[in-house]
Amino acid sequence: MSGDTRPLIGVLALQGAFAAHEAMFSRLGCRTRQVRTAVDLDGLDGLVLPGGESTTMSNLLVSSGLFFAVSEEIRAGLPVLGTCAGMILLATRISDGRADQVCFSAIDMEVRRNAYGRQIDSFETQLEVRGVDHRVPALFIRAPIVESVGPNVEVLAYEDGRPCLVRQDRVWAASFHPELTDDSSVHSLFVDCVDSCANDKAQSNDSSRSTVGTAQEQE
Ligand code: GLN
Repeated sequence: MSGDTRPLIGVLALQGAFAAHEAMFSRLGCRTRQVRTAVDLDGLDGLVLPGGESTTMSNLLVSSGLFFAVSEEIRAGLPVLGTCAGMILLATRISDGRADQVCFSAIDMEVRRNAYGRQIDSFETQLEVRGVDHRVPALFIRAPIVESVGPNVEVLAYEDGRPCLVRQDRVWAASFHPELTDDSSVHSLFVDCVDSCANDKAQSNDSSRSTVGTAQEQE
């Protein structure tokens, strides 16, 4: 054991914009680890699915065996943040995707790929984000549009009336790239969630230890 108690955030590093996420989490005092195979998921406190190309990532996730492993981690309660292509991977339904494209179905929402237009239509805007006291700069690059969300999805920000930052329990997704600006607010919200999940886990480990202790004392 390293004894280092800083949160350990895995960044899926099969393809796409993962280095900028690592830099952002380091700035916030977290450790990071590039995730390329299932063993890299061991002991993570959180995981990021970066922007890139969701069709390519989908192929690589399946061929590396990571698709199944990450699905299991999400089901077990690992906090996850997906940005842009990462958002698409977390959705339940994808429009304009490739027929064989897989997704984790971790957030009850339908997304439409590339619906903000082509690379040349990329834009930066300022968003009001729930829980953040200033406007957050956000870069949209061939971003997906969130076409619908289910009742358990919390919308934290809108762009032109459409959800662009959403959360369902421990799984977060942004259609924009918070890692490509100087503002660390979105990452910071996610780290708060990672911290509170780690505390919950530590408390439930403690209480199960004390239950074992009590049972042994009674024997
Ligand atoms: N259009 C890309 C996709 O479908 C996402 C773009 C991005 O991540 N910047 O995967």
